[in-house]
Amino acid sequence: EIAYYHDRFVDVDERVIPIQERGHQFGDGIYEVIRVYDGEPFTMKEHMERLEKSAEAIGMGLPYSREKIEALALEALERSGIQEAEIYMQITRGIHLRQHHYPDPSEPVLSMVVKEARKLTPEKRAAGVPVITTEEIRWKMCWIKSLNLLPNVMAKQKAMEAGAHEAVFVDQGTVTEGSSSNLFIVKDGTLLTHPATNAILHGITRRVILDIAEELGIPVEERTFTLDELLEADEAFLSSTTMEAASISAVDGRPLKGGRTLLDRIHARFVERTKKEKVDS
Ligand code: PMP
Repeated sequence: EIAYYHDRFVDVDERVIPIQERGHQFGDGIYEVIRVYDGEPFTMKEHMERLEKSAEAIGMGLPYSREKIEALALEALERSGIQEAEIYMQITRGIHLRQHHYPDPSEPVLSMVVKEARKLTPEKRAAGVPVITTEEIRWKMCWIKSLNLLPNVMAKQKAMEAGAHEAVFVDQGTVTEGSSSNLFIVKDGTLLTHPATNAILHGITRRVILDIAEELGIPVEERTFTLDELLEADEAFLSSTTMEAASISAVDGRPLKGGRTLLDRIHARFVERTKKEKVDS
């Protein structure tokens, strides 16, 4: 494990955040999580683009050029010596006497942690994971990858306490996304997922899966679906950088059909891509 704060590499346990860091006091910042397969970051470009979009959305500049941030991430990765890694990257609006409005000028601060990747166990990958549902209580700008994750944290805790793997937000009957994942269902051979609106994070894995589906000639509809449709789906799965695509076995204790014909095809192709990028780059 290795960490970076502001302008230097630090030990992951080192206490480095000044008390008036706006990330610390307000959650005033954004982040990304990038998966590294066999020493090679996967979809780095897409993650950096989303980072830039999130920064722009909250009126914050980046502390360094995108190239420099990428170079620092690669340096951190190399220093860590980890092959199957996860790069956590966050940028906050910096350090200033506490006031709500933005400091002027503000000096954004980058921090990073590189650690061993969290992976779904082979058992969970094979059997699928149970989820619970929870009321959608978040704000109307979920596409920004904001540090303000309290509703997500509370939802995930609820899932853990129920012995489930993920909590799925439901907004008046409509399934939006998981607390840290997107959702897909399959109905009569068509792959469905919530459209990339303000109501969800536009997951990079979601995008890769849609791309793979297109490649495989699988019909796709980006449209909202209801909790009832999820319960009756032929297949249902979660997507995220850490989970890739993971089958959902049950919702609120009710077993699903558990089909995985398309999921398995898509996931096999996903795994190929994580290897292919390495060969190509
Ligand atoms: N939705 C939310 C709310 C998330 O936090 C995440 C994970 N960052 C995702 C979806 C999945 O996004 P990605 O595929 O980019 O990891």
